[in-house]
Amino acid sequence: MLKIRARGRSNSHSFHDQTDLLVPCTPAPTPANSFVPTSLLESAMLSNNILQVADAIMMKPVLPSPESIKDKGKIDQLKKLCQDFHLTDEQLKHIEKRMVTEVNWGLGKDTNPTSNIKSYITYVSELPTGREHGRYLALDLGGTNFRAILIELEAGSASIKMKSAKHAVSNDLMQGPGEDLFNFMADKLREFMIDHELLGQRYKLGFTFSFPTIQHSINCADLANWTKGYTCAGVEGKDVGKFMTKAIARHSDLDIEVCAILNDTTGCLLACAYKRPDCALGVIIGTGTNASYVEDIRNVELYEGNPGKHREVVINTEWGALGNTGSLDFVRTSFDMKVDKNSKNPGKQVYEKLISGMYLGELTRNILLEAAQNKILFDGDNKKTEILETRDIFLTAHISSIEADEPGETDNIREVLQELRLDEKTTDLDLQVIRYICECVSTRAAVLAAAGVAALLNKMQRRRVTVGMDGSLYKFIYRVTVGMDGSLYKFHPHFHNRMVSKITSLVDSSIQFQMVLSEDGSGRGAGLAAAVSSACR
Ligand code: ADP
Ligand code: MG
Repeated sequence: MLKIRARGRSNSHSFHDQTDLLVPCTPAPTPANSFVPTSLLESAMLSNNILQVADAIMMKPVLPSPESIKDKGKIDQLKKLCQDFHLTDEQLKHIEKRMVTEVNWGLGKDTNPTSNIKSYITYVSELPTGREHGRYLALDLGGTNFRAILIELEAGSASIKMKSAKHAVSNDLMQGPGEDLFNFMADKLREFMIDHELLGQRYKLGFTFSFPTIQHSINCADLANWTKGYTCAGVEGKDVGKFMTKAIARHSDLDIEVCAILNDTTGCLLACAYKRPDCALGVIIGTGTNASYVEDIRNVELYEGNPGKHREVVINTEWGALGNTGSLDFVRTSFDMKVDKNSKNPGKQVYEKLISGMYLGELTRNILLEAAQNKILFDGDNKKTEILETRDIFLTAHISSIEADEPGETDNIREVLQELRLDEKTTDLDLQVIRYICECVSTRAAVLAAAGVAALLNKMQRRRVTVGMDGSLYKFIYRVTVGMDGSLYKFHPHFHNRMVSKITSLVDSSIQFQMVLSEDGSGRGAGLAAAVSSACR
């Protein structure tokens, strides 16, 4: 347990007394590296501080240990190849501050037009209370997949019953005319309703549409620009709610009202808040990355209409765009530049490209390729180098699999290599090099995501700082839950621990946070948004 001293005054219940508070420390991490050098373990035993060492290993990939002079040469080259992937706390603090600045620029009327981060207003001002009741439909268009969903809420039960049907979105649909995409979703929704005998009733529908939109109200959202490989013509700048309503109206047997359009991160936040009222931040690390958080309406200069009794509103940061004007160039490597250049949106979504599932596989493949070309890997075997030249063969899921090998085990990595036809005559050093490269890429992604989370936590906490009568600063202890989702976060064996560890070192000591999986927030959250939305009342 970690001791934190809370500052405060004793004559008010609003502030914590001057006491030592106990907050849970990062759970004991499992060492991420199978190839922990004996020297490190010995020193850990001697220093009786194995957890600290394990934490250091988890946060900083450990280079393979050389067994010969030739190996040493390769390892030195490997170290050089990956050296820019290790980010210092100083670099991360700089990114944390930059994130806060740009989120604020997004909120400001004058600064919004030129800001990378747009801080989109969701018009979600009510979080679920747990008293919601009834059946609601939801649609979830996230990137790789689309789902039609039914959620059933029972007031006070704190549980959400859910049925859903998932469909892959083909490349043709992603890049074809916009109407085809929306008609496809309406058709699949109808099929789902027939399968579950839902026709013949009126439903409210929440639509999780995980692309940047400019909202004018909770159920009116203009697509700002496509991301994640989508390029459907005729949709940018238009209201996706209208597209969806029109596509649904093609079916005379559907009686559905589109009540809320939201982003998956807002859905994640809502679904988490349904169970944990202190949730104020939703973060996705899947195909792309993004975060939504609760902001004081007084800071939201572009809010349209009258907020009425509402004092807060959820902001969809679209933080993936951080760095589009060069502010992250100081951490980008030549590999990042290559991945960006080969992407469908060069120069855009720079932060996202350093972190999310759509890019980490390619990033890793590019480093593996250079390692093979430089004979650090596979002894320069031409056939294997050629395989590594194939775009998209190395998946982000492979990184998870490789790093899930327990210390001393190599089952997963061998399986991945077999799948890629790279398994013939691989040496132990090859395996260590590949794992090291995966760890460099995924650790950097986790600490960069941590800098983003820390930025929003610090920003929200600043609203809780007050100047006392004596002129000194008083801070509330801020207990907050972060709802997390996305396959990379969910399935990578060390992403959570690495994030928690780095956030802990980047946030103000008065913040007590926990990160929880808000599983399938994009589905449940959409249903909940329809349930709490005043648009269809
Ligand atoms: P979406 O972002 O489309 O809503 P997901 O959250 O499922 O969907 O994220 C899909 C992305 O997650 C894929 O692009 C893939 O790169 C990545 N991914 C899938 N499985 C894994 C895994 N086991 N480990 C790490 N990343 C994964
Ligand atoms: Mg999703």
